[in-house]
Formats: sequence, structure tokens, C-alpha cells
Amino acid sequence: MSRIIKLNEANKPKTKIHKSKLFKGQKTAEEVHREYGMRGRCTLCGGAPVIMVRMLALIEDIKKESMPYWVAICQSAISNGHVDDRGNVNVPYINTTYGKMVRISQALACGPHRKDLEVTAARAPSWVLVEIDRGPGASAPIVQVKA
Ligand SMILES: [Zn+2]
Repeated sequence: MSRIIKLNEANKPKTKIHKSKLFKGQKTAEEVHREYGMRGRCTLCGGAPVIMVRMLALIEDIKKESMPYWVAICQSAISNGHVDDRGNVNVPYINTTYGKMVRISQALACGPHRKDLEVTAARAPSWVLVEIDRGPGASAPIVQVKA
């Protein structure tokens, strides 16, 4: 079995959600995801979001690639009160399989602004992990296959 086929099977939804289970059919899966998964409005115009982009980076990569940026993250953590009794700065991080990562950016976009956000996300530096959430309607994976 090729790697691409394995990826396709891994990305298939495990269970189908029947519409009647989503607030007795009052809301679609997309509306529920928008309300509870994305929780926000379009960053540019305040419209209903259809895509969410998160940018994460390994702490060691941020220190290696841009020390002034790491200092700015630490200053932001201090201003948000992430300092313990001894005066140590505790930058909030996420444990991932790659290591400790810091969320450096999060943005939402509505339908008309979707492309602007995707273009911006594609321009991120190579050491930044870009996580794109297009919601339940677009869960079909796009995999490039050799011709
Ligand atoms: Zn918008």
C-alpha cells in the first residue's frame, strides 16, 4: 500500500454526523464549527469565517531564526502576567510530536477574504508550521499523485 493511499484513509472522517444531532437540525455542521471551533469573526471585515489559519513554531527554531522575535514573545508573555513567583517568564506553549511549540499567529477569514489569508499563510517562513482549518465541509484531502 502506497503512502498516499494510507494518508487518504487516515484523513477520512471516522463517523458521519447526522444533521438532526446538531441542535435538532437547527444548524448545519459548518455553522456549529464556525461557532464553537473557530469562535471569532473575519480578521479583516468582521464577517462570518470560513477558514482559520494558525501559525506555530518550535521554541528552539524561534530562538535560532529570530532572537528579537523571541524577546517580543517573552515581553508579550510578561505583559499578560505569565510570570511565576521567582520572576521566571513562562511563555505559554503547546506540546506537539515535534516538541514545544508557541502559537505565534491566528487569523480568521470570511469567503471574500479567504484567498488573502491563504496567500499570507503561504508566505510564512519555512520554520513556521501553518495549520489551516477549513471546517467540516472541506475535509476531503487534496493529495498530489504522480501522473
Ligand atoms: Zn472578511
